[in-house]
Amino acid sequence: MHNPATDWMFATEPDPSINGRVGMWNAGRGLGGGSAINGMVYIRGDRHDYDDWAAAGCTGWSWDEVLPYFKRSEDWQGRRRRRTARAGRCRSRRCHQARPDRRLRAGLRRGPACARSTTIAPADVDGVFVNYATQRNGERWSAARGYLEAGPCRGRT
Ligand SMILES: Cc1cc2nc3c(=O)[nH]c(=O)nc-3n(C[C@H](O)[C@H](O)[C@H](O)COP(=O)(O)OP(=O)(O)OC[C@H]3O[C@@H](n4cnc5c(N)ncnc54)[C@H](O)[C@@H]3O)c2cc1C
Repeated sequence: MHNPATDWMFATEPDPSINGRVGMWNAGRGLGGGSAINGMVYIRGDRHDYDDWAAAGCTGWSWDEVLPYFKRSEDWQGRRRRRTARAGRCRSRRCHQARPDRRLRAGLRRGPACARSTTIAPADVDGVFVNYATQRNGERWSAARGYLEAGPCRGRT
């Protein structure tokens, strides 16, 4: 981020709510686009958003309809769990965090939380769960690495 070779660094309009200041809107530039500079957090999104879009007329975008496409694009590194797939281009692994269980327990004490089953990406994202990252062997796994550089796909994507 903040490198004009890899980040468009768009300027926002002056924002009256922050005394007219101009913000920076980061956006990936070059192969991989945003996936080359983003925070590598992997999440499928919230079931209710997809279902709301489908209900508003976006045919084919309900959670149940998009879920197979998520699975096809994923190649989860780690112990296989329910609702995960291993054939796709988008590699994701559980984040290396210091004491994730302590953080989870602290979050769970605070309020509504997802089940601690830590599926690769829960359908309902309110609450506390372990994060996953688009990484391979501890390194960023951008869309360009996954789809352009990685060679033939083992799976159906
Ligand atoms: C700083 C930052 C952090 C983020 N963190 C996360 C995160 O942790 N987890 C997450 O899921 N998402 C995150 N995102 C969002 C995620 O990266 C984007 O939603 C995703 O990359 C969008 O993919 P896309 O293919 O739709 O578009 P983009 O990745 O934006 O790709 C568009 C590509 O087209 C190119 N382009 C644009 N205009 C032209 C043109 N006229 N001619 C030729 N090429 C052009 C761009 O340079 C870019 O390479 C983050 C984004 C940013 C910027």
